[in-house]
Amino acid sequence: MRCRKCSSRALIRLPRHNSAFCAVCFDDYVLEQVRRAIKGDRMFGRDEGIAVAVSGGKDSLVLWEILTRLGYRTMGLHIDLGIGSYSEASRRKVETFAQPRNLSFVVHSLRDEHGAGVSEIANGMRRPACSACGVIKRYNMNAIAAEHGLPVLATGHNLDDEAARLLGNVLHWQDDYLEKQSPALPNAHPKLVRKVKPLYRLAEREIAAWAVLQKIDYIVDECPNSQGSKLLLYKDALNRLEAAAPGTKHHFYLQFLDRQKAREALVPLVADLRECTSCGQPSTGEVCSYCKLIATLKVAK
Ligand code: AMP
Ligand code: ZN
Repeated sequence: MRCRKCSSRALIRLPRHNSAFCAVCFDDYVLEQVRRAIKGDRMFGRDEGIAVAVSGGKDSLVLWEILTRLGYRTMGLHIDLGIGSYSEASRRKVETFAQPRNLSFVVHSLRDEHGAGVSEIANGMRRPACSACGVIKRYNMNAIAAEHGLPVLATGHNLDDEAARLLGNVLHWQDDYLEKQSPALPNAHPKLVRKVKPLYRLAEREIAAWAVLQKIDYIVDECPNSQGSKLLLYKDALNRLEAAAPGTKHHFYLQFLDRQKAREALVPLVADLRECTSCGQPSTGEVCSYCKLIATLKVAK
């Protein structure tokens, strides 16, 4: 197997592009996909500071490494969800990544703030842990990025994540979610930062391979709360389709984005948002989902 670009010995095969690359050309390919996403979707400019949401997993650490290499000004942002040894190990991966590289980061600990981790908070509200976790992460990431004057929040969502989410949204015909599923979401309120996903053109296995080549040490375990999640089921289904017909995932998601752009569906939802009467953050209701979650915790105490 030869590299498609330079004909030296290839290291990785990319069936969806009907090609293979050596280590050097694969590195070029990965960086180019991220540059293309940032530019093509007008994610951010050179002069903007970027909050990078880092979980300690491969995607977000790879994202941080690439944005740093491309010369962007970043700040890492880690939410310690208080899920026992899993969260402790995740936090350590973020710290051991950032320190030798001299990258600045903040850690927000749920236990320090509320005396409870995400599982206890979710129990209090009788919600599945993953849905409470989503509310908590979105709320804190936005608030912390804004607090530090950073206009953009970048997450490590990749092509597999976005295709699986699209499949879920289509299977349940969730029109609201379909409208808002974008790799570059404008801010719908002055207190909201822009949300971007610069890795959306890269498949999970490509990111994993790049992480190994770069010797990035990341947490391999999945979150213990995610077992049996629907998203994992959709990922598995898409992986089976991909194995039989390479390019399916890529085609499914990128064609969706092309159609969405053509419809110009991304009108900022300014009119739909007001400010939470409890914390002042943007909300669709009188009290935001985060304050509702935290209120149940106080009642339970
Ligand atoms: P997940 O929903 O766990 O697949 O994570 C998707 C993206 O959200 C990751 O690539 C990170 O950018 C971000 N993220 C997830 N968990 C955390 C966390 N605990 N702290 C900061 N960012 C996170
Ligand atoms: Zn609130």
